Amino acid sequence: MIPLLDLKLQYRKLQREIDTAVAEVLADTRFIQGPNVGQFESEVAGYLGVKHAISCNSGSDALHMALLACGIGGNDEVITTPFSFAATAEAIGHTGATAVFVDIDPVTFNITAESIEAAITPKTRAILPVHIFGQAADMLAICRLARQHDLFVIEDCAQSFGARIAHKHTGSFGHAACFSFFPSKNLGGYGDGGLFTTDSDDLAEQFSLFKNHGSKIRNQHQVVGWNSRLDELQAAILRVKLRHVDKFNQQRISAAKHYTRMLDPLPAQTPQQADDLSHVFHQYTILTRSRTRMIDELKKKHIGHAVYYPMPLPDQKAFSCMSRSSDLRNTNAVCRQCLSLPIFPEISKTQIETVANTIRQVYAD
Ligand SMILES: *Cc1c(COP(=O)(O)O)cnc(C)c1O
Repeated sequence: MIPLLDLKLQYRKLQREIDTAVAEVLADTRFIQGPNVGQFESEVAGYLGVKHAISCNSGSDALHMALLACGIGGNDEVITTPFSFAATAEAIGHTGATAVFVDIDPVTFNITAESIEAAITPKTRAILPVHIFGQAADMLAICRLARQHDLFVIEDCAQSFGARIAHKHTGSFGHAACFSFFPSKNLGGYGDGGLFTTDSDDLAEQFSLFKNHGSKIRNQHQVVGWNSRLDELQAAILRVKLRHVDKFNQQRISAAKHYTRMLDPLPAQTPQQADDLSHVFHQYTILTRSRTRMIDELKKKHIGHAVYYPMPLPDQKAFSCMSRSSDLRNTNAVCRQCLSLPIFPEISKTQIETVANTIRQVYAD
């Protein structure tokens, strides 16, 4: 049996460090707004190379409050990808803005400056690219386009912690960026958690107000806010994991390389190879016209797998009414053919070979 994701191996490896950190929090009892939260925020800001890193309750909250901090609301349009987790579209929906879905590149699965540019209208206020599966979107071209049209860029980095373009981390290109620390993410906590990053003092101030009941000074509430905090236990655990995250991402890249080597040459499209951290392989996702047969075979061998994502977001009932779409031919094709295989830092070569051989067998039959 090979799971899609195995979190137990990593806990065993880090157990001493994590147990110590957790025990300190339990003894200290400052469970909310304790010292680890501020320390984690400044460590992660340093790691990412941003002026402000503000933690919150989840990646979903970070996206919602980031859009609000940019002043996005009722009459606005936000250009984004139809190939993502629902939270990306939900955040736009909660502001009352219209989500404008544009087509993805069939190799990187990310939206491109060309597809975005064709969808810009006088109502467009922001671009929300997602670094899907851990692969950085073309931020240089997207940010250039945004400057020309005076648009906000908010990066969804939920799957791309640690990914870089040249030496700059995803999450440091746009006006703002949002991260998730959901346990399965490349930097995952042991519960929910999220992060907002920006170089703008104004956006940081707005976001801080929203996440803390609209209040900066006790008993003074300036805006209608939320309770959206990262708790002290998660912050303590994330501080431990942050110290190891580059090594974990390198291990994901090595695993992906081995998959690609093992699967070549096959009529399945494997991901672009990364040696440079531009793809940190949150998922290893292939395209295949034989997906149903492949899934049957993987099930027989008890090998974990997932279809991320089977349906373009505008086809979901929840988002059909709050969105507009361009021609999504690449997205539709990718949704029909995508298949994600087991990947995590500790996956062994033997496990990868077992998965790859199972897939090869489908083509041999
Ligand atoms: C996980 C994820 C989110 C949401 O993060 P949560 O912390 O689970 O709320 C948003 N966008 C993408 C692309 C994600 O993968």
